[in-house]
Amino acid sequence: MPATEEFLPATQTELCRWMVENAEGAALPIYPVGGRTSIGYGPAPAARGISLCTTGLARVIDYPARDMTITVEAGIRIDELAKVLESQRQRLPIDVPQLHRATLGGVAATNASGSRRFGLGTMRDYVIGVSAVDASGKPFKAGGRVVKNVAGYDLCKMLVGSLGTLAVVTQLTLKLRPVPERSEILWISFDQLDRVDAALARLVTSAARPVAIDLLDARAAAAIAAEAGIDLPVTCPVLCIGIEGTARETAWQAESLTSEIAASGPSETVVLRGDDVTKLWFALAEFQVPSDDPLTFRANLLPSRTVEFFREAERAGCALQAHAGNGIVVGHIPDSITSASAADELLARLRSLARKCRGNVTVVQCDESWKSALPMRGEYEPGWPLMRQLKRQVDPQNLLNPHQAF
Ligand SMILES: Cc1cc2nc3c(=O)[nH]c(=O)nc-3n(C[C@H](O)[C@H](O)[C@H](O)COP(=O)(O)OP(=O)(O)OC[C@H]3O[C@@H](n4cnc5c(N)ncnc54)[C@H](O)[C@@H]3O)c2cc1C
Repeated sequence: MPATEEFLPATQTELCRWMVENAEGAALPIYPVGGRTSIGYGPAPAARGISLCTTGLARVIDYPARDMTITVEAGIRIDELAKVLESQRQRLPIDVPQLHRATLGGVAATNASGSRRFGLGTMRDYVIGVSAVDASGKPFKAGGRVVKNVAGYDLCKMLVGSLGTLAVVTQLTLKLRPVPERSEILWISFDQLDRVDAALARLVTSAARPVAIDLLDARAAAAIAAEAGIDLPVTCPVLCIGIEGTARETAWQAESLTSEIAASGPSETVVLRGDDVTKLWFALAEFQVPSDDPLTFRANLLPSRTVEFFREAERAGCALQAHAGNGIVVGHIPDSITSASAADELLARLRSLARKCRGNVTVVQCDESWKSALPMRGEYEPGWPLMRQLKRQVDPQNLLNPHQAF
């Protein structure tokens, strides 16, 4: 990040006032930040500007627990929010890495989701109201404290996933879910990927309703089991199937899934419960956090083609976690790739395969010096021109996260 000063407002009014002064004065680029857990994602910022940090805005505004909604400021840390909700046996069911640092505003700005996206959705499904400030310092609201069914553009959904390029989110109203009585994970290892593909095909017609269907290669399985501190079979591909509900529902689901998948010839099935499950959900969310890997990518594909892509990336030595039910693959490339040109070559191979699987490959994180040489957003998407037009309309001075604009 080029030299930036930081501004940390204590109130939403102070934030608005400062943004008006900036837009009417120096008009410096503004980089909204929360917990900075994924500030390095995407293209590198070029222009000197101001980091606008939201962590000073962390109040709970309203929590009518019986309505299963909560209104909070955007700078609240995810683990702090979880504690508030736990007191009412409720939750925001989004798997977020580094949740002791990540903020709600950052999770919303990136539309973050993890393994349980399959059964429980993404951030976009839980945001029902937003308060935000546009680049000129004008505050606006969208949605509300109840689920609304109104005509017009759904600005809430537009801001979720907009990476801080359209407005700074200051406050969010969320709909919540009850904490389930039971959460269990089936850790199923296979001696070969063909058997995994057969098992995934069976799951499409399963009577059970898993909340997560993750596929891990041996490298990822080893890293995740180590992170969770649980002794599990990790020398071959693993399917991680998450089930949640009452004790009776999960017992029934575990039994029927085990018998359905038996036909695909798994090597071993381990059912995890209690604390082990909590540790494993945490480790599954943390896997996507780039550590010292040269590059981390994210592919979006047709779910039915996930194993085909996974096989190619595994052959290239990548450590892989696929949210197989949604056709999403997160991969860390091997340390043996030490230059931008070698990384570009591997990405080109993966992108062309992803294209055949109706998808795309984006670079989540890599060495800063590689960014200008790599297609960070992957292949051209037809929606980009309209997104650029929208950005120009909403932020004509291009002040908000100018490097993230499409
Ligand atoms: C493109 C992208 C995709 C990601 N996808 C996933 C995913 O699918 N699953 C997952 O678990 N994690 C994902 N992450 C990581 C996830 O974003 C982080 O785990 C976490 O959400 C970041 O929270 P943070 O407070 O640390 O945000 P930061 O790292 O501080 O900021 C992240 C992004 O959000 C913007 N931002 C932060 N706060 C605000 C605000 N109040 N208003 C407007 N913009 C703001 C920032 O400008 C920045 O672009 C993704 C990150 C990025 C950048």
